[in-house]
Amino acid sequence: MTMTESEKVLIPSVTLPDAVNRGQLFINGEWRPSSDGGTTDIINPATGAVAATVAAGTVSDINAAVAAAKTAFDDGRWSRLSGRERSRVLNRAALLIRERAEDLALTESTDVGKPITFARVVDVATAADQYEYVAALAQQLDGSVRETPLPAHAFTKREPLGVVAAITPFNFPLILSSTKIAAALAAGNSVVHKPAGDTPLSALLMAEILTEAGVPAGVFNVVTGSGGILGDQLVAHPDVSKVAFTGSTDVGRHVAALAGQNLRPVTAELGGNAANILFADADLDQAIGTVIGAFVFNSGQFCMGGPRLLVERPIYETVLGILKEAVAGVPVGDPSNPETVMGPLASRKQLDKVADFVEGAKAAGGQVVVGGERLELNGGFFYKPTVIAGLANDAAAVREEVFGPVLTVQPFDSEEEAIELANSTEYGLASGVQTSSIARAHRVSSRLDAGIVWVNSWALLDPAVPFGGVKNSGWGREYGPEALESYSRTKSVVIATD
Ligand code: NAP
Repeated sequence: MTMTESEKVLIPSVTLPDAVNRGQLFINGEWRPSSDGGTTDIINPATGAVAATVAAGTVSDINAAVAAAKTAFDDGRWSRLSGRERSRVLNRAALLIRERAEDLALTESTDVGKPITFARVVDVATAADQYEYVAALAQQLDGSVRETPLPAHAFTKREPLGVVAAITPFNFPLILSSTKIAAALAAGNSVVHKPAGDTPLSALLMAEILTEAGVPAGVFNVVTGSGGILGDQLVAHPDVSKVAFTGSTDVGRHVAALAGQNLRPVTAELGGNAANILFADADLDQAIGTVIGAFVFNSGQFCMGGPRLLVERPIYETVLGILKEAVAGVPVGDPSNPETVMGPLASRKQLDKVADFVEGAKAAGGQVVVGGERLELNGGFFYKPTVIAGLANDAAAVREEVFGPVLTVQPFDSEEEAIELANSTEYGLASGVQTSSIARAHRVSSRLDAGIVWVNSWALLDPAVPFGGVKNSGWGREYGPEALESYSRTKSVVIATD
């Protein structure tokens, strides 16, 4: 189906906040064009039309941002404030995020194609919660006295690291940048942020918000542009003290190797391909909602989504029947409609990738239970939520990270087989167990190779609860007090008493 001009205007055009459409970078507390004046258009994935124009940063812009961040760190304008003073600023940031919730939600929805309702209640609310949570931790970042037989008073203190490079992917721009930036700032670091090339808009709005909250000039910098050009320069820069990266496993591997040349620590939050294990004893009504939410949320562009459903054989056919009907009823469409549950994919590239995976799955003998095709709507990058059964465990759509609204369903006959299938992936970010047996929940969750396991739920996330991957899903933990530790280092001080 081809779009007519009248169909293209079904989704109303939006007016985004000035900060996201200036075509400028934020360096040393100032808005400035990229060093060569280059810009990039940002596409609204719900319409395919240009939503905003941002600066295309250069290597020299990265150098300027790192220099500003280093100067700010060295002179102590933020790094030597007390934890309590930093905490006040971060709490103000949380307050301002809530005050500007509509601006942020609209920006995020337009940039990524997220349904506006989720942008409000998930993305914006979580970002505010993160600033609030680390604001409290900033006041508790202290050391301890160490008992020792030395003729000395020995104690430890926590110190910030320096300049943190924060690099984030396209799927949850606001949440994932806030995760890194809030924790890095709470510990007293300066930050150079490189958001994803396709979805950089909320980072620019956050520059405005953090400045208004009282983060001093130079402490937070945003350079928009292509990761291929800017990423290596930022990661390998000798004045960067830590790299906080979220993205694909391939790029993460490259980033970790590059940072390793300078012996810089890296937090690497990488790809996922989680299994959701549905036992016959589960509350099926509740479990089906969980299963569907886990693969359609954010159009399946969710590292912690549940794209692989493993179903105990006695209920396998029943579950396929329920999914066929329920998934066909998921409201897909205009993200600005509060009733929409699933919007478009974030880019044409992502849409084409998902479509290729599904065609590959069909060719490999997969049976499409529901969906399995693009949804032509308003010129946007829509794909129908799709369920595929009958694939072998080594089919690409089962083994690889599809990162779209596609669920593969496989039967299993025993608890042991379910665990084996769930763990038979290079990834280990998340996993799920749906069962009414507490004993089984404990038994199975303890054997799943994943950084987080949800029981009778999916994607319950909170800034207090650490998350991160095992295997090729990465290193390190974000959220929780663990996160703040990774943005600071221990110094021991030993004062002679004789
Ligand atoms: P990506 O292609 O790896 O990009 C991630 C970020 O790295 C982007 O800002 C990208 O810039 C930048 N980049 C590209 N090349 C680089 C280089 N040579 N050096 C440094 N940075 C570079 O990932 P994506 O496609 O945006 O995001 C999807 C992936 O992220 C999926 O695999 C998903 O599972 C993963 N993810 C993981 C988590 C988690 O918490 N574990 C959360 C969300 C997403 P450009 O965009 O300009 O290329």
